[in-house]
Amino acid sequence: MRIVRSSHIGLCFGVKRAIRVAMEHRSRHTGPMYSLGPLLHNPQEVRRLEKAGIIVRDELEKCADGPTLVRTHGITRQQLEKARTLGIELVDAVCPRVEVVRRHMEEYGRRGYLVVLAGDAGHPEVIALRSYAKGPVVVVSRPDQLPERFEKTPVVVLSQTTKDVATFDAIVMACRQRCDEVEQVRTICSDAVRRQADGARLARNSDMVIVIGGRNSANTTRLAEICRRIQPRTHHIEDPAELKALDFRGVETIGLASGASTPDWLVDDVERQLRLAIG
Ligand code: SF4
Repeated sequence: MRIVRSSHIGLCFGVKRAIRVAMEHRSRHTGPMYSLGPLLHNPQEVRRLEKAGIIVRDELEKCADGPTLVRTHGITRQQLEKARTLGIELVDAVCPRVEVVRRHMEEYGRRGYLVVLAGDAGHPEVIALRSYAKGPVVVVSRPDQLPERFEKTPVVVLSQTTKDVATFDAIVMACRQRCDEVEQVRTICSDAVRRQADGARLARNSDMVIVIGGRNSANTTRLAEICRRIQPRTHHIEDPAELKALDFRGVETIGLASGASTPDWLVDDVERQLRLAIG
């Protein structure tokens, strides 16, 4: 049995950078230190960071006595203002690619555009981005969620960084059916695009795909969905112990992929345990 790794596996650039910022700050600061929400969507890595003294807090009021990390997704404008009012020191670990979307959001709003943001309305990145809008914003995850008519034109379509390309393109096309003045800026992160393309390639060439990542990680879930559409024997696992439940009968090639917030040490651990499981 062969194990083939996706060529884009383990942490993405933005999450690696956020962990580096966190650990550098931790090494310089002796008192309590916080992260506003988990720094990444991976429970094992969050526990590792907690052991290093980076405590997850959901509310700014509970971060008053220590520097507080702003994770890759960013925070809302209201949270930023509140932190200033409370005198909280914020440590910026926002992914530069998310910052690009925020700048487009502000700029197009200022220029009088209606922004269609292709993304999941409940995702922290989308909630944060939306709060910086300078004009009307419509958030849709699928084309059929678009309104019949836009209240305002021109329109620009932007995307959550981890949106899949096919759905984004379908949303742009549906906007063009509703109005003539539509621009698009495909602000999908290149890491997400490559990961999805590699995942699909892996699924086509494997008898089973194992996608490693937190169950609360939207990009891991999306990657697993993309792989499963091609290879139904796709399993999204969070922990190596879950390998025990898998049936490897008839499998010659196993593809290994991961979400952007899955640490490299966990990928190595899964591969090690997988080799033991298949003998
Ligand atoms: S997936 Fe892309 S946008 Fe998101 S944190 Fe990673 S590098 Fe940044």
